[in-house]
Amino acid sequence: MSDFSITVLGCSGSYSASSSEPCSGYLVRAGATSIWMDCGNGSFANLQRHIDVRDLDAVIVTHSHPDHCVDLYGLHVLATYGLQCCDIPVFAAAEVEAKMRPLVSDWHGTFAWHTVGDGAQETINDVDIVFSATDHPVPTVAASLRFDGKHAVYTADTGPLWSPEVFGNAPDFLLSEASYTHDDRRSPIHISGYQAGELARSAQAQRLVLTHLWPTIDPLACRAEAIDGFGGDVVVARTGDRYDI
Ligand SMILES: [Zn+2]
Repeated sequence: MSDFSITVLGCSGSYSASSSEPCSGYLVRAGATSIWMDCGNGSFANLQRHIDVRDLDAVIVTHSHPDHCVDLYGLHVLATYGLQCCDIPVFAAAEVEAKMRPLVSDWHGTFAWHTVGDGAQETINDVDIVFSATDHPVPTVAASLRFDGKHAVYTADTGPLWSPEVFGNAPDFLLSEASYTHDDRRSPIHISGYQAGELARSAQAQRLVLTHLWPTIDPLACRAEAIDGFGGDVVVARTGDRYDI
């Protein structure tokens, strides 16, 4: 078992699926470091299945769409009124804090907010992180995470005008959104399975996992076209799955 891994806490695209899949959330573990990456609705419940939230080192929120940020509210409530934790580092795209603030009226110092934009670099213990602005209608950042010589990239939400190539060397692991199948693209602010495969091929990714599928999309069809675009095997994320980087 690797000490650099990503566990899926939720992966439903845009809204919660009837199969009880929560929206986007991932637990990144790197040695003794634990990072909650995206806080989609339902993901906080699953986070608590995997770690004691007092062991959380930081939170990353890629953008202000509710299916990626709204469960930060749950952590705020537990940390403030249950655990008396404060100053939990939150690395969030622009507009996240402002979007969430009306829900809480006062953060009570629970979080130490850091706004991250295109090219921002942060270090969380031994994890080096670089952010890149994606092709999405609100400020959105993809994340490149490097630990112990391994490189993982999470696309967050993006349209087709962004590529993980901006992060330089080929990722060992690419977690890419794939909201639609290619012939059923409902919005240019997301990409299809085929386009996710193309992104992985152009970035020379070693492995590709698809996430954020619109709930009614056929995952097998999305995977098949991603394999065509990538030229290698592809996995579709499922809640509870853990990927060793
Ligand atoms: Zn979005």
